[in-house]
Amino acid sequence: MAAGNVEGSGREWVNWAGDQSCTPLEVARPASRDELAEVIGAAATAGRKVSVAGSGHSFTEAAMTEGTMVRVESLKGVLDADPGSGLVRVGAGTVLADLNEELAALGLAMENLGDIDRQTLAGAISTGTHGTGARLRNISAQVEGLELVLADASVRHLTAATHPELLRAARVGVGALGAIAAVTMRCVPAFTLSRVDTPRPRDEVFDSFQKLADANDHFELFTFPYADNVLVLERNRSQEPPRPRRRAAAYLNDVVLENWALGALSATGKAFPGWIPSLSRLAGRLASGSRTLDRSDRVFANDRRVRFTEMEYGIPREHGPVAARRVIEWVRENEYPVFFPIEMRVAAGDDASLSPSHDRDTAYIAVHQYRGMEWRPYFEAVEEIMDSYAGRPHWGKRHFQTAATLAPRYPAWAEFQRARDELDPGRVFTNDYVERVLGP
Ligand SMILES: Cc1cc2nc3c(=O)[nH]c(=O)nc-3n(C[C@H](O)[C@H](O)[C@H](O)COP(=O)(O)OP(=O)(O)OC[C@H]3O[C@@H](n4cnc5c(N)ncnc54)[C@H](O)[C@@H]3O)c2cc1C
Repeated sequence: MAAGNVEGSGREWVNWAGDQSCTPLEVARPASRDELAEVIGAAATAGRKVSVAGSGHSFTEAAMTEGTMVRVESLKGVLDADPGSGLVRVGAGTVLADLNEELAALGLAMENLGDIDRQTLAGAISTGTHGTGARLRNISAQVEGLELVLADASVRHLTAATHPELLRAARVGVGALGAIAAVTMRCVPAFTLSRVDTPRPRDEVFDSFQKLADANDHFELFTFPYADNVLVLERNRSQEPPRPRRRAAAYLNDVVLENWALGALSATGKAFPGWIPSLSRLAGRLASGSRTLDRSDRVFANDRRVRFTEMEYGIPREHGPVAARRVIEWVRENEYPVFFPIEMRVAAGDDASLSPSHDRDTAYIAVHQYRGMEWRPYFEAVEEIMDSYAGRPHWGKRHFQTAATLAPRYPAWAEFQRARDELDPGRVFTNDYVERVLGP
C-alpha cells in the first residue's frame, strides 16, 4: 500500500441519489494533512486529475473523477475550540451530525443548517449549502479560515485577514481550488429551537410570503404541485428548555409516517402516473400540523430515506412566490407526473464569489423527482423559468448551465477565476462538471 492509503479502485462510486456514478483510477484515504499533501502531490506529478469526495450527497457530478478520488473521512472532529469567541477548527471530512454533537458538548452550535446533517463540512460549504432564514447566510459564510492543500503539495492557510479575496473564492470552491483539510468556523452559543408546522391555503401563504419570511428566524414551505395548500415550517429561537421527543415517537413520526408515506405514495405514482394529481391532493390533505422544541441541530435536520433527484435555484427574494406559481402552473398545464413537493426557502446575501446568494437576498426554489422517474423535461422547464430571474443554480443540484451562461450572473466571477489561476494553475482539481460550469 502506498503512503496515504491509496488503492487501485476498479470500484464504482455512486452518489446518495444512486443516479450518478464513476470509477476512479484510484481512491486515497489519507490519515492526516501531511498524507493528504503527499497523495495529491503524487497524483499531480503523475498527471492525474484529483477530486475530493465528501458524503456523495450532491445530485450533480461535482465530486466525480476517473482520476484520483480523495476521501478525507479520517480528517475529522474538532481540532481546536475557543468557546469564548465561538471559533472552532474542524477536520474537513467531519460529518455535520458528528460536528453538531461535538459542538453541543462545548456549549456551541452552528448558526443555521440545511435540511439534513449527513454531508461533510467541506462538502457542504463547497457547494454553497444553505438552510433558511431571511437574516441568515449560507453555511460557508460562517467560515473564518481554510487550510487548503494545493496540487504541488503545499498548504495554504487562508483567512479573511490574510487573503480576503482567496477566502471568498475558496469558501464556495466547488472542489476546484484544492483539497480542504480543515475549516475554522464561527459558531454561536447553543440554542433551542421551536418548530411549528401548519398546513395553510397556498394563495394566502404566497401572498404573505415576504412578511412570513421576515417574521420568522427560519421560514420554509413545501407544496405539492397538484394540491392547493402548503405546509409551512416556522422555526424560531426559544428560551424554553428543550423537550426532546422520545425515540419511539420520533421514529414513528419521522420514519414511519413521513418517509414511509412519502415512499409509498411516490412508488404508487411511479407505477400509475395518471394517479399523481389525486395522490398529490391526498398528500396535501394528509399534511398535518406538529410542534417540536429541541436542541437547534435536532430541529434543523430531517431523516430523508426516500431517494430522489433535485434541482434548486436561488433568485432575488422578491420574485420567489411568482416564480413558484409559474412552476406549479407549468406542471398543471402539462399534466406532468411529479408527485414530490416544491420547496421554498430564503437566505440573506453573502460575499463568497460563487455563492448563489452572492450580494442578494435570495428565495431558493427546489423541485424534486422520485428516483427512477423522468426528471429532465420538468427540470428544463423550471430552469427556463428561473433563467428569467437571473437564477443561480445550487452547485450540488441538477442544472444545465455552463460557464458561459453562469459568468454574467456572478458579479465576482473574475475574482473566482483569478483565485483559480493562482491556486490551481495546472487545473489538477477538475472534472467534467467543473469544466462545464467553471470553464477549462
Ligand atoms: C437528502 C439531501 C438533502 C439535502 N439538503 C440540502 C439543504 O437543505 N440545503 C442545501 O443547500 N443543500 C442540500 N443538499 C445538497 C448537499 O448539501 C450538497 O450537495 C453538499 O455539497 C453535499 O456534501 P457532501 O459532503 O456529500 O459532498 P459531495 O457531494 O461529495 O461533494 C460536493 C463538492 O464538494 C467538494 N468537496 C468535498 N470535500 C472537499 C474537500 N475536503 N476539499 C475540497 N472540496 C471538497 C467536492 O469535490 C464536490 O465539488 C441535500 C442533499 C441531499 C441528498
